[in-house]
Amino acid sequence: MRCGAGIDARMVDELAINIDPIQAGGRLTADAMKAVIAYGDGYSVCDNCRKPNRLDYITKPPIAQFHKDLASWLNMDTARVIPGARRGFQAVAHTYVKPGNPVLLTSLSHYTEFLAIEEAGGVACEIPADGHLIVTADATAAKIEEVKKDFGRAPALAFIDHVDYQYGNVHDVQAIAKVAHQYDIPVLCNGAYTVGIMPVDGKNLGADFVVGSGHKSMAAPAPSGVLAATAEQAKDVFRTTAITGDVTGRKFGIKEPEMMGCTLMGVTLVGMMASFPHVKERVKHFDRELANTRIVVDALLSIQGTNVLSEYPRKHTLTRIDTTASFDTVAQSHKKRGFFFSGALSEKGVFGIIPGATRVWKFNTYGISKVQAQYLAQVFADIARENGLKTGS
Ligand SMILES: *Cc1c(COP(=O)(O)O)cnc(C)c1O
Repeated sequence: MRCGAGIDARMVDELAINIDPIQAGGRLTADAMKAVIAYGDGYSVCDNCRKPNRLDYITKPPIAQFHKDLASWLNMDTARVIPGARRGFQAVAHTYVKPGNPVLLTSLSHYTEFLAIEEAGGVACEIPADGHLIVTADATAAKIEEVKKDFGRAPALAFIDHVDYQYGNVHDVQAIAKVAHQYDIPVLCNGAYTVGIMPVDGKNLGADFVVGSGHKSMAAPAPSGVLAATAEQAKDVFRTTAITGDVTGRKFGIKEPEMMGCTLMGVTLVGMMASFPHVKERVKHFDRELANTRIVVDALLSIQGTNVLSEYPRKHTLTRIDTTASFDTVAQSHKKRGFFFSGALSEKGVFGIIPGATRVWKFNTYGISKVQAQYLAQVFADIARENGLKTGS
């Protein structure tokens, strides 16, 4: 089967257990796949757009209601859909950061947060994670004081990753936000790895903004995501246009400049909406996902020389593992070198580990069944044994 234009059909999740860290939470639901086919045409959600002509006012399909539901689900006041979490960072940075302003983020922050700060002309000030690779409220307070000394002012904004992409560690956004608010610093909670995966309560976390990624964690097509704000901050980041054309005198009503008017116009939005009921349900069962992670992590730990670099016990399904003293010792003398490992995984129907990696690598068990988790655990143990590594605790 070919799609034409030299494009092969993609058969990854159909044929293998996919534990690619960035793909696990974004896999479409069957309902999203149907929506994608129905709404593939450009501007297809605009069929029933009526005055005042903005995406979040469309009632058919129920886009207006979806915006309300998104906001209340995150326990925030206002929500907008956006083309990826990064566009949320960009909108917020562009609103609050003036050239030369210091902006807080963390030593585990995603590169897109840096780029959002760069584009706004800000200066990236990283709160260092502690020895356990956790970003703490104390470290935040110390960094703010340091910034105040260096810049003569407090940071203009703070980006705090709820769960970081490097270790999948959970950071205490609530305590960090409390400290930041003592200095009047607005806090953006980056939920790229949490919104749509586990329950996220923005007000309880003390977040001024919650950002989620549709294609990473909400079973939605790319590029999609959500930016939710408190009523107070929504006035700024979702301000409406004030510009007028000098020849025509035209004005543009309630369009929001940070959103460039309208954002997601077809597959992305409708796919996200179709998955939403499933996503709302699945976050309530995150404990089952963690139980599956535990099965796999424990199997890996039973292979002599293997270490978990993420916090342990695991609180998230994304895990960073160090097999330098196990699988990498095999790679040293194997005729396929490091590729023996990814090769063996692929032969056993497991996809998503970087080909050739045998030292430090990541995997994400989100969305697999218990039977698949048990199979995956067996696969890692089998590959170890087949290559002469000791297993068993
Ligand atoms: C993946 C990721 C992003 C980027 O998300 P997009 O929706 O692709 O823009 C941002 N932050 C973190 C922590 C991520 O893991």
